[in-house]
Amino acid sequence: MSAWETVKLAIVRRRLLANRIPEDSVYPLETWMAIKAVMTAKSERELRNIIGKKEQGEITRTDLNEYQLFRVREQLRYVKQNSPHYRDRLKDIVPDDIRTLDDLGKIPFTYPSDLADEPMLFMAVSRTKTAREFTTTGTTGKRKVIGYTTSDLISKIDIISSALKSIGMRGDDVLHIMFPAISAWDPSLMLAGACRVAGYGSSTCSSADITEQMDIMKKSGATHIIGLPSFIYRVTALMGSETDLKGIGIRKIISTSEPLSESMRRKLQDAWGCNVLDVWGMTEFGLACAIECDYQKGLHTDEANLLFEIVDPDTGKRVPDGKQGELVVTALTAEATPLIRYRTRDIAAMIAPPCGCGAKFNRKLVKPSGRMDLQFKVGMGYKIFPLLFDEAIFNNKDAVDYQVTITKEGFKDVLTFEVESKDRSDEAKASIIDSVSKIMEIEDGIRDDLIDVPRVRFIDIGAMEYSAKARKIIDLRGNFS
Ligand SMILES: [Zn+2]
Repeated sequence: MSAWETVKLAIVRRRLLANRIPEDSVYPLETWMAIKAVMTAKSERELRNIIGKKEQGEITRTDLNEYQLFRVREQLRYVKQNSPHYRDRLKDIVPDDIRTLDDLGKIPFTYPSDLADEPMLFMAVSRTKTAREFTTTGTTGKRKVIGYTTSDLISKIDIISSALKSIGMRGDDVLHIMFPAISAWDPSLMLAGACRVAGYGSSTCSSADITEQMDIMKKSGATHIIGLPSFIYRVTALMGSETDLKGIGIRKIISTSEPLSESMRRKLQDAWGCNVLDVWGMTEFGLACAIECDYQKGLHTDEANLLFEIVDPDTGKRVPDGKQGELVVTALTAEATPLIRYRTRDIAAMIAPPCGCGAKFNRKLVKPSGRMDLQFKVGMGYKIFPLLFDEAIFNNKDAVDYQVTITKEGFKDVLTFEVESKDRSDEAKASIIDSVSKIMEIEDGIRDDLIDVPRVRFIDIGAMEYSAKARKIIDLRGNFS
């Protein structure tokens, strides 16, 4: 490391609140949010007048709500001044009028299409001040561009470091980062950076070759793994019989960037002998937005930087904690591309505190069942999330990966599954057909004679080249989808 890099590292470390979390903290991620609220109250009179002078241990849900509402008002002032899109869009909104959570309903939504149409109008800083830009494609195919200033990146590193502390990483631990073949956004860089400033070791392998992955993981002395569940699953299924995975000593696996089905989670936990924790995030908000604790009942959300609401997708009205709806997120601290009440298209619910892990005030996100855009219709218009197929297929212990093609024969939808499996017996085939047929929507369709009994064809292991963004569902029904 050059002298300049050492200095930069020291500066970043000092700015991280993650390094101020006391060792005896019950749930470090929540403590980190409390520290953020306390620090803000110290420097901002407006918030101090509302919640008073408090210590980190005294922060309650009510205080955090006030912290978030204060941040919303600040952010509204900021975007009205700096973001051309919001200057126009929010011209009738008076930030000081936003005093309660119900007042949030006065602020108009931002839709993914708004961002895709004119991403540059959202930018609240000049492009010379953005340290990085990430692009993501929407359903329309247009690219959404998300900018990050240095301060945005540091705050991401801060939350990631706190989250790693929360899953139990300490001094000598090493995080093995497994993201094969991802190009648009490289989460490995951010994760390796977070490990570095937090003082943990990390090893990164972006190869899709599983032997290489295992070698690098073992050599680095990895204690924790983060990566795409479909890929970790592939490594597990293919190496499992010849390697004692439990013997490697992995203490926690973090599953990110793809939905994690419960059947896959169970199999990974059994094989590695440790908990598998789910993460939720989206490029628009810097990926690391929520993470599970060992209690595994919902994901703890980053409420220092983000405000989560659930709304009825049709009426746009806010729904209470515990009820399902569309997840709407407001960035509370973003500088470059601050998004206000962004409709994520994800179906989710929020759970009110406390949590079995000991967290007192943090609201949790119930794992989104999938993005609304990814739903497809079968039979009598039943909507299905691809995750349900994961759940059914990976219930069969020898299935490694699959792809499904949907065609139409007469009035019937025909689902043909191509499954990579170690067991290709008739019993294995019958068991896969049985578990897919038991998905409620499929079962109803078969009964109503609108869906044919699912078909299964086994293919060689490795026949489908692993790719992170492989389309698992190929719909050949033309305009019917
Ligand atoms: Zn918890």
